[in-house]
Amino acid sequence: MARAIVWFRRDLRLSDNPALAAALADGHQPIPLYIHAPDEEAPWAPGAASRAWLERSLRALDTELRALGSQLLVLRGESGAQLQALIAASGATAVYWNRLYEPACIARDRVLKVALRERGIAVSSHNAALLVEPWQVATQKGDPYRVFTPFWRTALARLPAQFAVPSAPVALPSSPAIAGHAIDSLGLSARPQWDAGFWSHWQPGEAGAQEALSVFLDDAVRGYKAQRDIPGRVGTSRLSPHLHFGEISPRQIWNALATAGLPAHCDAHLLHYRNELGWREFSHHLLFHYPHTPERNLDARFDGFAWAEPDQALLKAWQSGRTGVPLIDAGMRELWHSGWMHNRVRMVVASFLCKNLRIHWTHGARWFWDTLLDADLAANTQGWQWSAGTGADAAPYFRIFSPASQAARFDPDGVYIRRWCPELAALPERALHAPWLHRELLARVAPSYPAPIVDIPASRDAALAAWQTLRALTPTEPA
Ligand SMILES: Cc1cc2nc3c(=O)[nH]c(=O)nc-3n(C[C@H](O)[C@H](O)[C@H](O)COP(=O)(O)OP(=O)(O)OC[C@H]3O[C@@H](n4cnc5c(N)ncnc54)[C@H](O)[C@@H]3O)c2cc1C
Repeated sequence: MARAIVWFRRDLRLSDNPALAAALADGHQPIPLYIHAPDEEAPWAPGAASRAWLERSLRALDTELRALGSQLLVLRGESGAQLQALIAASGATAVYWNRLYEPACIARDRVLKVALRERGIAVSSHNAALLVEPWQVATQKGDPYRVFTPFWRTALARLPAQFAVPSAPVALPSSPAIAGHAIDSLGLSARPQWDAGFWSHWQPGEAGAQEALSVFLDDAVRGYKAQRDIPGRVGTSRLSPHLHFGEISPRQIWNALATAGLPAHCDAHLLHYRNELGWREFSHHLLFHYPHTPERNLDARFDGFAWAEPDQALLKAWQSGRTGVPLIDAGMRELWHSGWMHNRVRMVVASFLCKNLRIHWTHGARWFWDTLLDADLAANTQGWQWSAGTGADAAPYFRIFSPASQAARFDPDGVYIRRWCPELAALPERALHAPWLHRELLARVAPSYPAPIVDIPASRDAALAAWQTLRALTPTEPA
């Protein structure tokens, strides 16, 4: 049986893994491989939270492979050199992988593909991560989409009611005895004390992903459209880190939604959930076609915007959840303590940073990159550019969230704020959402809680004034 390398990257699963399935279908003995080469993703090498997840996910994949008779070979160093060395040591004649879409990964994989083929090695790459790949949909003029609704309409027209997906193999031939690295030796968990609290919320790996999907289908999906905005409840699927690491595919989720047997009154919830998967697709479409956007405004008018010099004290207060604005602090502490933040609160903390503090969104994106377990270059870039008003189909800059109104609307009973800001627990709701309006009460009940780091109405007015200047300077919208 000819040997083939199956190079796992962010497709850490055995079911619906097209690269693995193709290697087996072609009659190869697969050598499951992971290469630790974070520098190749620079300047967006995985952040601390991602690395902590990755360590656990690799362990889970190795356990699954061992249960089938194989195991994960872990190498480290430059991917091309590691592949060539493994080809020489194993006699493999082919390499299979699933595609990645970040600019640095695309560039690396292109070079590798050519180099391997020049040496007579067959290379076979597959789509494991998306419902539609970025080049499969275009406007009538052949351009990339910049507006979500027509993008998703066009994409939906291509999508089947259900995908045919390969099942996980039931057994695998053993791998050749080649020395690799222990997963624990990769130094992925750099801050063990910081992430200790994460793992009661999460189970990295394919089994954990399937469990999260089934919990969602049993319960939260039935109220998704209404509940998805309430941060105090578990109203969403919490599948984002699993999707990022490819422990579950969007096709598997798509199929599960179609076959869940939900009653007709759930149709609106399903529609809404599919739309969110659509936003994930859209973010990959944007990153592929506008690869400069992790660093630069998609709407170049904002290059001339009067962003504030980032004040380290303000940035630190925002990062550590000590802004004196309860909804912001609750969100930033949720992120720090659980590695995740509710989507509604992500939008509000981002608006606060980019508009009330007028700090450029890239500072927020970097912090999220390091601390989010689901940190994903496409979704994070799109989320920040959307929130800052600088992106495609973005919230206009002049729409500035009031953290107090958002809290009153989406956390009316204060469950979320009390959970993450326990020092405010004894405040009544009217004071919990905007304690700066109840100074005496706050001083009595929570004397350690800070005063707001910024005057919210004044900073809002200043942001709007800066935006008006920008508009006056460049009256025409870019195409
Ligand atoms: C400033 C900001 C930064 C963000 N950074 C990231 C990030 O780094 N990684 C990330 O996965 N998401 C990011 N998001 C999008 C969104 O907040 C998360 O995908 C969502 O909160 C994940 O929770 P869930 O799995 O329970 O979502 P659900 O509501 O259950 O949605 C299902 C899936 O759809 C996808 N999805 C949902 N909303 C979006 C969206 N707006 N954009 C792209 N995909 C979406 C996710 O893959 C998610 O798992 C960001 C949003 C903002 C406003």
